[in-house]
Amino acid sequence: MEFHFYDGTTALQEWVSTAKKDCWTDEHKDRQREWMKNYMANASDGRFSEFTTRIRCEHCASTFRRNTQPSKSANGGKMHYWRCPTSGDCVTTGIREDRLKDITASVMGLAEHDADAFKEQVEYISVSDDMKLSFHFFDGREPVVQYNTKRQGTPWTEERHKKFSDSMQGKYTEERREAMSQRMKQIRSEKHWSSKRK
Ligand SMILES: [Zn+2]
Repeated sequence: MEFHFYDGTTALQEWVSTAKKDCWTDEHKDRQREWMKNYMANASDGRFSEFTTRIRCEHCASTFRRNTQPSKSANGGKMHYWRCPTSGDCVTTGIREDRLKDITASVMGLAEHDADAFKEQVEYISVSDDMKLSFHFFDGREPVVQYNTKRQGTPWTEERHKKFSDSMQGKYTEERREAMSQRMKQIRSEKHWSSKRK
């Protein structure tokens, strides 16, 4: 082979055919896929989220995808969800992105979600059939959080729970008030019955 450069020089190169007949081998495709995955996972232009490629379905081994739905209660009128792409057949449910961020921050011991810290520390999150989120940290830790579609997750340690409930105080207070009023109603009705019996 002879290369003719624009500056007038030429270079001779003996052409050795290394091209296999099956150029697009599985290996090549895998490499291409791997590259795309890394590209999507690390792009910082805002097209991809820190959760892109990092949420895996334990049920069907797929990677969760982001959906956007209109919502009146959400900021900007849009709510983002992460779902298993085979959701029709899959037993997992969608995860609200805002809740996922709260849970992630809590698991990492942060007051607020930090996308860069997440990418640095967490390899991926796996989702079990009953919506338990396992955070696979690069350092080997694997805390598990139950994702509740109605309410926020359960405590991990006393300290984390405290941090979490502090940040959620408004909501917890509302729930506590509700629980308290239920209990009062029950006590009153029990008193009512016991006084009637006398
Ligand atoms: Zn699935």
